[in-house]
Amino acid sequence: MFQQNARSVYWWCSFNSLPVGVQMPTISSPLEPAVYRIGEQLARLSAGSTPTLFERRWWSQTALNLAMQDSRFKTQLFRFIDVLPSVTDDEEVVALAREYMGDGDTPLFGGQWGLKALSATNFGARLSGKAIRNQVEHMARTFIVGATVKEAAPQLTDLWQHGRAWSIDLLGEATISDHEADRYRDRCVEALTLLAREVASWPSYPLLERDHLGPIPRVQLSVKISALSPHLDPIDPEGSYQSVATRLRPILDLAMGLPASVIFDMEQADTKALLVEIFTRLFAEPSYRAYPYAGLALQAYHRETERDIEGLLSWVHRRGSPITIRLVKGAYWDSDMIRYRQRGWAVPLFERKVETDANYEALTHRMLSQTSLIRPAFGTHNLRTLAHIEAVAESLGLPPETWEYQMIFGMAEPFQHAITQYGRRLRLYTPVGDLLPGMAYLVRRLLENTSNESFLRKEYMESQPLSTLLAPPVLEGLTQKHPLASQPAGMQEFRNEPQRDFAIADSRVAMQRALATVRLQLGRQWTPSSGGLRLTGPVIESRNPAHPDEVVGRLSSASPEDVEQAVRRAVQARESWRDRTTERRVDIMRAAAALMRTRRDELTAWEIVECGKPWREADADLAEAIDFLEFYAGDWRRLASPRRLGHEPGELNQRLYSPRGVTAVIAPWNFPLAIPTGMVSAALVTGNPVIFKPSERSPMMGHWLAELLREAGVPDGVLCCLPGGPDIGQTLVRHPEIATVAFTGSKDVGLGILKDAGTLMPGQHMVKRVLAEMGGKNAIIVDETADLDDAITGVVSSFTGYAGQKCSACSRAIVHAAIYDSFLERLKEAVLSLRVGNPEEPGTQVGPVIDRRAQSKIQEYIEIGKQEARLLVEGIVTGPGWYVGPTVFADVAPTHRVAQEEIFGPVLAVMKATSIQEALSLANSTAYALTGGVYSRSPSNLELAWQRFDVGNLYLNRPITGALVARQPFGGHRLSGIGAKAGGEEYLTQFVVTRVVSEQTLRRGFAPPE
Ligand SMILES: Cc1cc2nc3c(=O)[nH]c(=O)nc-3n(C[C@H](O)[C@H](O)[C@H](O)COP(=O)(O)OP(=O)(O)OC[C@H]3O[C@@H](n4cnc5c(N)ncnc54)[C@H](O)[C@@H]3O)c2cc1C
Repeated sequence: MFQQNARSVYWWCSFNSLPVGVQMPTISSPLEPAVYRIGEQLARLSAGSTPTLFERRWWSQTALNLAMQDSRFKTQLFRFIDVLPSVTDDEEVVALAREYMGDGDTPLFGGQWGLKALSATNFGARLSGKAIRNQVEHMARTFIVGATVKEAAPQLTDLWQHGRAWSIDLLGEATISDHEADRYRDRCVEALTLLAREVASWPSYPLLERDHLGPIPRVQLSVKISALSPHLDPIDPEGSYQSVATRLRPILDLAMGLPASVIFDMEQADTKALLVEIFTRLFAEPSYRAYPYAGLALQAYHRETERDIEGLLSWVHRRGSPITIRLVKGAYWDSDMIRYRQRGWAVPLFERKVETDANYEALTHRMLSQTSLIRPAFGTHNLRTLAHIEAVAESLGLPPETWEYQMIFGMAEPFQHAITQYGRRLRLYTPVGDLLPGMAYLVRRLLENTSNESFLRKEYMESQPLSTLLAPPVLEGLTQKHPLASQPAGMQEFRNEPQRDFAIADSRVAMQRALATVRLQLGRQWTPSSGGLRLTGPVIESRNPAHPDEVVGRLSSASPEDVEQAVRRAVQARESWRDRTTERRVDIMRAAAALMRTRRDELTAWEIVECGKPWREADADLAEAIDFLEFYAGDWRRLASPRRLGHEPGELNQRLYSPRGVTAVIAPWNFPLAIPTGMVSAALVTGNPVIFKPSERSPMMGHWLAELLREAGVPDGVLCCLPGGPDIGQTLVRHPEIATVAFTGSKDVGLGILKDAGTLMPGQHMVKRVLAEMGGKNAIIVDETADLDDAITGVVSSFTGYAGQKCSACSRAIVHAAIYDSFLERLKEAVLSLRVGNPEEPGTQVGPVIDRRAQSKIQEYIEIGKQEARLLVEGIVTGPGWYVGPTVFADVAPTHRVAQEEIFGPVLAVMKATSIQEALSLANSTAYALTGGVYSRSPSNLELAWQRFDVGNLYLNRPITGALVARQPFGGHRLSGIGAKAGGEEYLTQFVVTRVVSEQTLRRGFAPPE
């Protein structure tokens, strides 16, 4: 148990007589005595008060204490706080409080929220809802100076009078459209203008207005660069730069004139390099080169920060005017760790707090040694860190105006007090904004204060002794630890192939090179890998959907007569392939995976050019193809050996799997490598010969897959690639020697295959099995508690990803009436801001559709939609490619064709619902059941979706595309398909027959021992 109001006073009130047991920390550097001396001094100056957040006066501490003791409660509390501002109805507030925190079995329900007195009446609910909201608003005001700059002005004046400078941070929703980015720019300009007017009459405060390099402005603005562009994406540094710089220039022009200083906040790790690049590029421009008040935050938890500081120092040297570096430890540690680990990427952050602290100290020394080039600013609330900075400065003989301390408004007030008493310049990071966008900020601060690693927690809640608090960060004895992700049973060795991290410059360069290599080969004639068979059908010309006059490649196709030949050869090869050892077939699949890894960039480039996929989507297809090879290889090893059933003595019952026979794989073009790789490799690894018909819309990708498998060791005859159209597919399906058909494609073709396969053909000895993954009319429900930033970006990416040409794509959004209008307004702007264009450009978000036929069909649906519903937005795209601008219809009724029929393009139908029940019944009102999603922060609504949303893959609070092998086995039911989920543990059993052999082992009264 933590002590209530646990600030132990023993170390600071009795400085001259250290309590028994308190010792000097281990001295690991000559600075330590100074650190300890200064630390004690600062501790003494801070004595007698607790930070606002930890004060009993307004925050009973119950919530904070409970959160620190119980991580589940902490999650629930913070999630509740996060959702609160989006709920306007008081009854709903109370209901949500109950959902998150249970029914009164925590002390919060007695005193804090005032819920005990809650009656079932509406009046009671209203009162309590209001009380809860007041509490949280009060807490938010601890960290937020005001809703507007005007409202914040008196507080800022007060801070100044108490010897604290400030840096304004304008809180806002996530920027998801150009319109919102423009608004943030305007808010920055307006804030600078108002603040400059405000501070003009303030009395002079020399400590805050001058440093070692000269005067410093009273006004400082901290800018969130991601708020200045919806296109900030490390995959496209040039596009990101243009988009951000255009909006930053008016802010900088004003700041230079006033003057005011402008500091870039540092954000998530994947944008770090991009922000540093934007900073150095922009401030090297002739107009801003001499501006001495630019700065940026750098995070000590980032492993590259040391290198960044060195780079910046050389750059400043060349530039000729100083910059501010604000050194912080970093505020995104938890979320970045999760994101990187989830993606299987190497984490670029230190993973131990002590490493971050040690790095901070090393960087402090570096910064304070270069004060002719930089204005050092140190953002920290850690007593040890503060004392260490002082000790370093002292050892270097620096005058105190050379650096400044920065702290967050509302945090560590005792140290704010100590630092000002100590005669140092202190600047507070002061957020301004509404409660709604402020919640994410508030939750971040609460997390920071209650984290196990937080200095403030250690000091104020755990009362650790001064010797511990001032101890140096010691790095010895650290071992690297990489936690393992959870794996499905039996698949311990499987790991998803990480997608490319295009934030890494080398990955971008490699992709550009691969595109250039592929470009040199465009238009050639290729011979399909059909195991020595000479194909006699017409030549197929594959065209670039972004430039239809460009031929990607030419390939001979198969004629129906070739099918007969191919099947005959497969039948001949059947037994020898079946009799290969499991290990051998598994090894071949793994060899194919290895080849794919080696040629990954080039194959990705082919896919970009042949199928019009943007970089990330094409790369994800490659990663998934590798996953299928590895996963099925590993899974077959698990399944292949006979399994004993029962353990009764005297009998041996064994289950065996044998291959079904020749398999026809009929593949689509939209995941032209991953889907066929999955179907083909599943059939092959289980011992079946395969005749593979790639789509006539992506023949080159099919060709590369067959080539690669041949190279990996699949013998001629065992795999034959037959490029061709529907006639080839139909001939294959009807062939009497085909035992299994694995198909992915449209519902109509799938149903046709099921019918054909069910017709017994002369000479046929086996009932055909058909695995058919078909279409979807997938819906995302957005309820009134949803985080709209997430919901809109999730809906947009789910309906426009690969121009809506995924069977998992979202084509309906069902939105609660309470947020319907605001959802539509932001959705429209977000859609208008999408970058539609040539997918070879890294910044392209939406490419063309696959061909003219697809384009015309989608355009027909858009015309139908215009008759049926209200056109909200229609993206207009010009250009030679087969483009369809993302289009949204609002007020769509469930009976409308655009609400029922699969369109397979970037078209979204938005429908209104007044309850989660109605939303679910709308979502389930089509014939399909493939994917679905819900954006909600109501636990009970999510629970209901679990139970009632009838889809094969349900996604909660995330986009509904991008299923990962093994982690999200994929497939639907009803008219969306038949068969086990791809990438799941039951998939392979569809390619085998199950045999059971039972042997009587008792002979002459004797049985072998068990
Ligand atoms: C003026 C100002 C501006 C700021 N601007 C930014 C900004 O632009 N970008 C930004 O990211 N942050 C920014 N911050 C937030 C800042 O990063 C945090 O407030 C700070 O990290 C808390 O550090 P501390 O020294 O006060 O506390 P401490 O309690 O000593 O340190 C906490 C920090 O340690 C690190 N940490 C925790 N656990 C681990 C672990 N297991 N392994 C490695 N490291 C760990 C994290 O960075 C965490 O925030 C700013 C802070 C201030 C005061």
